[in-house]
Amino acid sequence: LGVALVGLGYYSRDLLAPALQVTEHCELKGIVTGSPDKIPVWQANYGIEDHCVYNYNNMHEIANNDDIDVVYIVLPNALHKKYSILAAEAGKHVWCEKPMAMTEDECMAMIKACKENKVQLSIGYRMQHEPVTQKIISWARSKPYGAITSLYAEAGFYHGGRNKDHWKLHKKLGGGAMYDMGVYPLNAVRYASQLEPISVKARMEVKRPDIFKVDETTYFDLEFKGGVRASCKTSFAESINLLKVDCEKGGYELSPFQSYSGVKGKTKDGIILKPFQGNQQAKQMDDDALSILNNKPPLVPGEEGMKDIRIVEAIFQSAAQNGKLISLL
Ligand code: NAD
Repeated sequence: LGVALVGLGYYSRDLLAPALQVTEHCELKGIVTGSPDKIPVWQANYGIEDHCVYNYNNMHEIANNDDIDVVYIVLPNALHKKYSILAAEAGKHVWCEKPMAMTEDECMAMIKACKENKVQLSIGYRMQHEPVTQKIISWARSKPYGAITSLYAEAGFYHGGRNKDHWKLHKKLGGGAMYDMGVYPLNAVRYASQLEPISVKARMEVKRPDIFKVDETTYFDLEFKGGVRASCKTSFAESINLLKVDCEKGGYELSPFQSYSGVKGKTKDGIILKPFQGNQQAKQMDDDALSILNNKPPLVPGEEGMKDIRIVEAIFQSAAQNGKLISLL
């Protein structure tokens, strides 16, 4: 399948384009960019043909390009909805980066557009394609240590805020720790438990208000059916990367649990989960390409991205009301 990347920033440039050089079932064919200076560099690096280069004003013309089957949205979060819908209306399958969108309503509109245009919609939750992660997901079902009793997950990095204008530091384009990194612990406690939360409480903190016009650190606690609880943290103030699962008869943890490589784990009784040696992004895109080629539902459909965004909205609501318990039922 031919893939066009929309938005040629950090993630497209450093991770997705290189990964598309090692994928087996899809390849980089097109680009959509608002920065003309990037075009010759990308064309030279990846042999992208002139008829596969678009900007945001003529992107709809991708509809007439048979070399492109999939459009991958790698834009600031607040633009995911608009360009996913544009891609679906051009009749192309849509891969969209996490977080899926800003609100549940936006997610619903994206799902509807993809259904109406009979194209697949897959969200870039690479961890769900990662083999060590898949092992512990299988344990939520097989329960080797008995039922899960509680979970803890935290993900963050130290953001120096050098470029104060960057969209990740501002609300308007979907910045903030919760949207950027918080969906990792949120998604992790859901995939690791295979449970859906029934309520959430949250608290947000900004210690460097000169830099962050958004949440710098967010704490959130989820309660699942049957009394299972999860505590989560996300931050732009420190480097954290841990997923812990406690069970009736033991437990396990992954640390790191969401890095691009080296995701590894151990159980309380001494089993070591060794890191996957392949390329995560390539595996994700090959899995998603095969779903399209075989006409099977993708591993991480829009509905999965939307479940998280619904909870993210409740997290913002709770934090705005001093940590009030918000029901998700
Ligand atoms: P980035 O800022 O490096 O790149 C964003 C790109 O969008 C830039 O090329 C920018 O020029 C372009 N753009 C188009 N319109 C814009 C506008 N109006 N304002 C600002 N920029 C605009 O960001 P990034 O880190 O590459 O993140 C892009 C997306 O990828 C985000 O949704 C992010 O959450 C996601 N991401 C996912 C992972 C992952 O591991 N799955 C990792 C990093 C980023």
